[in-house]
Amino acid sequence: MKIEIDEKSGFCFGVVRAIDMAERELSKRGQLLCLGDIVHNGEEVMRLERRGLQTIQYPELDSHAGRTVLLRAHGEPPSTYEQAQRLGMSVVDATCPVVLALQRKVKERGAALRAEGGAIIIFGKNGHAEVLGLLGQTECDRYVVMTIADLESIAFNRPIDCFSQTTMSPTQYLSIVSAVRERMQRAFGREEVPLQVHATTCAQVSNRKQEIGMFAAAHDAVLFVSGVKSSNGRMLYQECLGVNPRTFFLSSPDEMRIEWLQGVERLGVCGATSTPRWLMEAVARRAAELAEGSYER
Ligand code: SF4
Repeated sequence: MKIEIDEKSGFCFGVVRAIDMAERELSKRGQLLCLGDIVHNGEEVMRLERRGLQTIQYPELDSHAGRTVLLRAHGEPPSTYEQAQRLGMSVVDATCPVVLALQRKVKERGAALRAEGGAIIIFGKNGHAEVLGLLGQTECDRYVVMTIADLESIAFNRPIDCFSQTTMSPTQYLSIVSAVRERMQRAFGREEVPLQVHATTCAQVSNRKQEIGMFAAAHDAVLFVSGVKSSNGRMLYQECLGVNPRTFFLSSPDEMRIEWLQGVERLGVCGATSTPRWLMEAVARRAAELAEGSYER
C-alpha cells in the first residue's frame, strides 16, 4: 500500500498566523490565555497547552484580570475587547485579516441598513465564534441562517445584505442567496430588488473544496483527519465522501480501524484547514504500521 499526504491540506494562513503569535508570546513569558480553542483541533490545542497556553471560556474571563489573552483567528465582537479593557488585560489580537475585513464590512453596511430599516442575513452556524463576532458589529436587524427553512421568519419587503461565514460552502451560500432574492422579488412585486450579496467565503477554504475532491478521487481510500468541532472539517469531509465513498473521518491515529485499509493500494491522508501537518503525518505512520506500507512526504 502506498500512502500519500495531501500537500495542500492543513492550516490556513489565518490559523498559522494565530499559532505563530501564540508561540512567540509563549517563548517570551511561558504563559498565555486563549479565549476559546485557538484552533478546532484538540491535538494541536493540547500541544500548545503543554507549552503554557491556557484555554479559557467566556464566563471565566472576569477571573483573569490583568493577564494577557489571545483572541483567536475567528474574531470577537467589540464587547469582548471592552470587557478585556475593563479588566486591565493585554490583548494579543490574532483575528484573521480576512475576518477583520468582513467584520468592518458588516459594521459599515449594518449602520446604513439600520438607517433604511433594512436587515442583514448571515449564512453561518448560530453560536459559532466568527458569527458571534459578526453579529456584535451592528445593531441592525440581523439573522443567522443555515438552511432555506430558516428564512421563514424574515420579512423581505426591505433592503437586505447577505454575508457568509468565511468557512461555509460557497455553493450552499449561492442557493441561500437565490432563495432570498426570490422572496424579495415576491415581496416587492418586481425583478429589481435592493439586495446586496457579499462574497465572503474564504478563498483558502473554497479553493480547498475542489482540490481536496480531486485528491480524494485519485485514491482507493481516504483518511480525513480533523477535529470534530471544525465546520470547515465537516464540509471538506463531505466533499471527499461525495467523491470517494471509502473516506473515513478520524481525529487521532488511535481511531484508525484496520478494516478501512483492506484491499487499498493507494491511500490518501488529508484534512481540514485546522488540521496540523504533524497530525496527518502521525496518521500516515499509523496506517503504514498497520498495513506495512510506505508513505510519500
Ligand atoms: S479560513 Fe480563511 S478566513 Fe478563516 S481563519 Fe483561515 S484564512 Fe482566515
